[in-house]
Amino acid sequence: MTVSSALSPARLDRFARHIVLPEIGGAGQVALAGKHIAMIGLGGIGSPALQYLAASGIGRFSLVDDDVVDASNLQRQTIFSSRDVGHGKAVSARRWLANFDDEIDAEISDKRIDPRNAHGLIASADLVLDGTDNFATRLAVSDACVTAGVPLLSAAVGRFQGQVGAFAGHNPDHACYRCFVGDAFDAEDCDTCAEDGMLGAMAGWAGSFAAMQAVRVLLSGVSAFGDPQWGKIHILDGMKPGMRTLSIAKDPACKGCGPSTA
Ligand SMILES: [Zn+2]
Repeated sequence: MTVSSALSPARLDRFARHIVLPEIGGAGQVALAGKHIAMIGLGGIGSPALQYLAASGIGRFSLVDDDVVDASNLQRQTIFSSRDVGHGKAVSARRWLANFDDEIDAEISDKRIDPRNAHGLIASADLVLDGTDNFATRLAVSDACVTAGVPLLSAAVGRFQGQVGAFAGHNPDHACYRCFVGDAFDAEDCDTCAEDGMLGAMAGWAGSFAAMQAVRVLLSGVSAFGDPQWGKIHILDGMKPGMRTLSIAKDPACKGCGPSTA
């Protein structure tokens, strides 16, 4: 199958700057069109990430957030405008997506994600991008990804710091997010962003970097840019500014992905 038989002339035009890159190419663009990302959290990370992921030509999104747009979100949550204040984030995100590109498929959930419903929300995705702001949710999402065999791109931001890491904990050789943070935070459920503050553009950096890493995961085995970098956590320092990278080893005793859970 050639790229011109898989993508319409309008789509070839829209994604021309990707297709001309040898590291993405026609094969990469066709692959992205067939991918499905579950976006968990549509806030400071999810908003800019959704913009770049939708712009990159990914064909299908699940948009999951139980929150409502607040005026104080607009300083960093770039898909929302003053008109969205008081409306659900998931439905507002779908509206943004429909205006941006009406060829993208989207389903939404405005239920809070928890260990009981997580599997159903993520199991059909090629990749989960978790940008939620509390550990209890993040660990529930991670455990569901391991069980469902879906890779997880986990991204967080606060103040002037961000972190983005890719996990394939369902694979016996790779760590999951729980291997990284441990079990101590299962009960924690606080919005540190409200307490600590955050530079708006810092959320943009972390979110757009998460989108870039998501494309890397999705193109694994397809084109040269595909390199999932499993178990690597990239730490973004907005004060310096600079980046450093940590490697996370699989924890054999991990409750999420250890041998006892298999
Ligand atoms: Zn683990």
